[in-house]
Amino acid sequence: MTTAVKQVAETSEQLNLRGKIAIVTGGSRGIGSTIAKELAKQGAEVVFNYNASKEAAEAVVEEIRRAGGSATAYQANLACIEEAHQLIEKTKEQFGRIDILVNNAGITRDRTFRKMSPQEWNEVINVNLNSVYHTTSAVIHTMLEQKYGRIINISSIIGQAGGFGQTNYSAAKAGMIGFTKSLALETAKSGITVNAVCPGYIETEMTQEIPEKIMEQLVEKIPMQRLGTTNEVAEAVLFLINSNYITGQCINVNGGLYM
Ligand code: NAP
Repeated sequence: MTTAVKQVAETSEQLNLRGKIAIVTGGSRGIGSTIAKELAKQGAEVVFNYNASKEAAEAVVEEIRRAGGSATAYQANLACIEEAHQLIEKTKEQFGRIDILVNNAGITRDRTFRKMSPQEWNEVINVNLNSVYHTTSAVIHTMLEQKYGRIINISSIIGQAGGFGQTNYSAAKAGMIGFTKSLALETAKSGITVNAVCPGYIETEMTQEIPEKIMEQLVEKIPMQRLGTTNEVAEAVLFLINSNYITGQCINVNGGLYM
């Protein structure tokens, strides 16, 4: 292949999401920020929210724009249905359509069940599970009209295998998997795919909260003997976006920890 032909091939490969409008929830940090950057690299117009990290969100937008991509960040607490709907409405007003929704925003409030407060339970269910209802219910009619949509829910290995001190998180993440399968059934005829990605332990601020000793024991148990990277999760998201015939599935990105 000549250099010019190779460059054209690489450019079109890199821009296969050109013209697509993507919303990523929780794009200011960690996995969500990498997904936002990778979607923008592929040519998508990216809109993402942050909850509290304004500066981090602005830095992600800046990085995407400097690399030639397009991104907008809005503040929204997605535990609140009105704020979630505003995020989606603003995106629809700006771009007229929504092609991709990545439900990534999430928190942990770990505590053994007997000591868990109602607040710790509710916060995690509201941010990790109810937010998925809030955003998806606001995009689904648009996607049905378009006869095209890609919904990717970032669940977790903890929703599949459970986690000590994580009944709230595990319930929310397992809930996302059930939601994914049911919505996939309902929308399969309409050009919409709905899938989940279940990361294992990924290097982000969320896993930095795990005490060092416990982390060492965890890594010992991972067949690949290391944490995953945010890029490895983003790769699975892109794969699902590019597929037309995969729906209702959970793609595990966990180094072999749960099979
Ligand atoms: P992270 O670094 O803590 O980032 C969380 C993101 O969610 C941030 O952008 C945060 O915004 C946003 N967020 C938090 N509360 C919110 C709210 N009320 N409304 C809207 N957005 C909110 O987390 P991460 O490690 O990248 O995890 C991303 C997703 O992957 C989560 O759903 C998590 O459960 C899942 N996951 C992570 C791992 C892992 O090992 N890291 C493993 C399995 C699954 P602010 O920056 O403004 O706070």
